[in-house]
Amino acid sequence: MLFQEMNITSAAFNCSAPDLASCPETALPEFAFIGRSNVGKSSLLNALTKRKDLAKVSKTPGHTKMINFFTINNRWRLVDLPGYGFAHVARENKEKFNHAVNDYLVNRENLMGVYVLIDSRHEPQKIDLEFVHFLGRKSVPIVLVFTKTDKSSAAKVQKNIELFKESILEAFDELPEIFTCSSVTKTGLTELLNVIDAALDGEPEVAPASDSPAPWG
Ligand code: GDP
Repeated sequence: MLFQEMNITSAAFNCSAPDLASCPETALPEFAFIGRSNVGKSSLLNALTKRKDLAKVSKTPGHTKMINFFTINNRWRLVDLPGYGFAHVARENKEKFNHAVNDYLVNRENLMGVYVLIDSRHEPQKIDLEFVHFLGRKSVPIVLVFTKTDKSSAAKVQKNIELFKESILEAFDELPEIFTCSSVTKTGLTELLNVIDAALDGEPEVAPASDSPAPWG
């Protein structure tokens, strides 16, 4: 199917929530972005929305550990989840490094999809694998996005992707869709927005809260 590139005409910071109970009402479908610190999440969010500093708010004191909501085109919400990858937290409690985030990912009724960002320069990292395994076991609808592809050769990126796929096979009946992108060269951005477009297609303009998120990818 051919999609027209989604035109983001408005992107407004909505609110920050410390936990699931504090999240805004569920009328709009949500798409969340998550990855370890420094994976390139802020750069990607700014590039996707063509805003210079949309994601800046998420990096300001008091917001880094929060779930940050942005309303896009008055139609859907972009959710910027806190970065993970702090070794001491992972060691203390492997899957519950951030209870609020896990609670959001597993129990948010209007969450339609999660973009899990992975740095394409590296071979599979334990913390990313553990996180993706967790999402697979919980049947959270995800796509995998390999970032910063301008930093390595296409062959190296492909090799890291293949290694990652092999390492997560057991957690999924069907592997999640995989995308690559670079916020520097802007490659792959249209494809990422197309996923949202396709998911919104058929959703009513003001979507009622749904009991079960649509499977994704
Ligand atoms: P975050 O911590 O995940 O929000 O990551 P940032 O977006 O702040 O990016 C971390 C670092 O990686 C910054 O120095 C960015 O300039 C750089 N970066 C982010 N995305 C890309 C990319 O696609 N290509 C390259 N070459 N650098 C990137």
